[in-house]
Amino acid sequence: MLLTLLAAATMAYGAEAAKVGWTKSTEVFQGEVVEIKVSGNDLIAVEGRMGKEKIYFFPKGSHVFTALVGADVEAKPGLAKLFLTLTSYGGAEQRREIALKVKAKAFHTESFSVPPSFDQMSPETLEEVRREQAAFARVFAAPVRDRLWEGPFLRPVTHEASAASFGSRRIINGMPRSPHSGTDLAAPMGTEVMASNHGRVVLVGNFFFAGGSIVLDHGGGLFTMYFHLSELKAEEGAMVKKGDVIALSGATGRVTGPHLHWGARLANARVDPLALVNKTSNESAQAQGAKSVPSKMEIEHGTERSAQ
Ligand SMILES: [Zn+2]
Repeated sequence: MLLTLLAAATMAYGAEAAKVGWTKSTEVFQGEVVEIKVSGNDLIAVEGRMGKEKIYFFPKGSHVFTALVGADVEAKPGLAKLFLTLTSYGGAEQRREIALKVKAKAFHTESFSVPPSFDQMSPETLEEVRREQAAFARVFAAPVRDRLWEGPFLRPVTHEASAASFGSRRIINGMPRSPHSGTDLAAPMGTEVMASNHGRVVLVGNFFFAGGSIVLDHGGGLFTMYFHLSELKAEEGAMVKKGDVIALSGATGRVTGPHLHWGARLANARVDPLALVNKTSNESAQAQGAKSVPSKMEIEHGTERSAQ
């Protein structure tokens, strides 16, 4: 009798432990962001890995874990796999995988010219560029593990006009270059630049390409970047809140005019920060049971472009 009961209990427990729901497959365009969900009654942790990148999951309500996953602007279209390790109460581990279909996006091609001095690099300039690359690589290599961000990401400047330039394939002085890995927002000289979300200031500096720059680490592998700034108002290591003024916009670095270059990086994928704004705004609208109203960006093909 007792044995039977124990067996029944074990079976019930086993059945319970196996009951996991998850996003089995999803699609994402190059440079965009999707949310992955995993749920299970006795899950206490979810870990993800895609290639060599760690994908951070965070609890959302009870028994649900979510992660934002992005496809790099130059990700190869096709199937990618996201591997999950689910830990249940009592320590039992289960593995799952998610098929992530990366879809090609039609990006604009734009041609523009910069002064030849930016193009023909002296050894001193090359050294500066190396210093710039190393500084960024250093911060991306050591993300804050905990999630610091909350709710929707904000546009860092309040101007309506924005150049829909993310991902554009660029031809500079007649030569094809790496794609534009951010969105350029219209911002007259000296416009206040706000932190898009809560985070830690992990880089404040002046660089050859990016000019006056600030990088915020929002935790869980998510960073936002603000370039070509004229004044830096945040200190490395400081914690900032969403909406805090961290800088004034400018035209420093390799630019042809004042604007804010705004970039985002998610598990080392270069993604469109406006995709992050839309994704997180929809999220919170859904959470409140409200209808989501994605803001329509005014598309403006200006002549001012940064080379970032
Ligand atoms: Zn730019």
